[in-house]
Amino acid sequence: MAHSALSQVPVAVSVNNDVSLRKSVFKSTHVGFREKSRTSSLSLDFRVASSQSRNRPVLCMSVQQASKPKVAVSPLSLEDAKEPPMHLFKNKEPYTGTIVSVERLVGQNAPGETCHIVIDHGGKVPYWEGQSYGIIPPGENPKKPGNPHNVRLYSIASTRYGDSFDGKTASLCVRRAVYYDPETGKEDPSKNGVCSNFLCDSKPGDKVQITGPSGKIMLLPEDNPNATHIMIATGTGVAPYRGYLRRMLMENVPTFKFGGLAWLFLGVANTDSLLYDDEFSKYLEDYPDNFRFDRALSREQKNKNGGKMYVQDKIEEYSDEVFKLLDNGAHIYFCGLKGMMPGIQETLKKVAEQRGESWEEKLSQLKKNKQWHVEVY
Ligand code: FAD
Repeated sequence: MAHSALSQVPVAVSVNNDVSLRKSVFKSTHVGFREKSRTSSLSLDFRVASSQSRNRPVLCMSVQQASKPKVAVSPLSLEDAKEPPMHLFKNKEPYTGTIVSVERLVGQNAPGETCHIVIDHGGKVPYWEGQSYGIIPPGENPKKPGNPHNVRLYSIASTRYGDSFDGKTASLCVRRAVYYDPETGKEDPSKNGVCSNFLCDSKPGDKVQITGPSGKIMLLPEDNPNATHIMIATGTGVAPYRGYLRRMLMENVPTFKFGGLAWLFLGVANTDSLLYDDEFSKYLEDYPDNFRFDRALSREQKNKNGGKMYVQDKIEEYSDEVFKLLDNGAHIYFCGLKGMMPGIQETLKKVAEQRGESWEEKLSQLKKNKQWHVEVY
């Protein structure tokens, strides 16, 4: 795993505005994910590093101690706008960003590859949590010779402050699209996805054409900091939730003090396919009252009928609580592959009927109340 690219990026951060830590650096900016085969060595390593501070004591904290005091972020002017930034860079004039790092997120036994990609946008392409960037892969569009490729959208997996907390980067969670010939079962590289492979193969320093940001459906409603947010994801659909959770539980944002409940349901194939699991597990330890996390591993776990455990089966296990929370105004989000929605809707309908409720009426009420947020692709 390409740990080194990330771990060498020095970042000035302060914790809870503690001046003594202002000149510290994060040795590791990749908070909370690791090669699956390694030990769960979560370490946020704060060291006094600038020349002026060399005489001060070196301060090393494990994440266990460090994660409660939240991480200071800047510039706080990113909180000022009343509306989210939209379409700052269009397809005809994209912004040229730079790849900071590409890190494989999944273990060896995961089917397929998913990468965490950090892009430096120099603060020029600001965004809000839940928005997407467009990426134009290099090369010519084979369907329109002489023209660039079509833009592909990717949900942003970081907060507006980025993984280095300085408002200059955005992170993407990209699954490499690979084509297998249905007859031979063999991979056909000529038909592999253009943009996802470009991103997963890119190297620190490579240039990347960005458009956007775009999307309002998955913006995190912040009017009530004590609200409940039920987040349902399959695979890379977890991207916007990683951003939400960092904003809720990791960052010290003076204008958003989260005191509600965030409940994540994540569906993937197996343990090796879990994404950002260390980061989420840490929130469970540190914020048991504010965070719940349920994983559905379709190839490892069985549902109550002995079938594969899909994310809707996990929701069904907790359907009483989920329905009560929705009745009390909880937001519910769905993000991931399009194919996830029919199974989920079917389960929710079944549960509603068992409760003597009409799902159609409930759904239209949830939509009317702006509690229902879906972004599938
Ligand atoms: P393309 O080149 O567009 O190919 C698409 C598919 O067709 C691939 O599976 C490819 O293998 C197959 N294919 C290519 N040629 C042939 C052929 N001749 N015959 C048959 N099949 C062929 N994706 C993520 O990974 N992470 C995200 O966070 C994410 N967020 C998204 C958010 C939104 C709002 C939307 C709309 C999409 C999002 N996507 C995300 C999906 C992403 O935009 C791309 O669609 C995806 O990465 C595939 O793009 P590609 O260029 O790699 O594949």
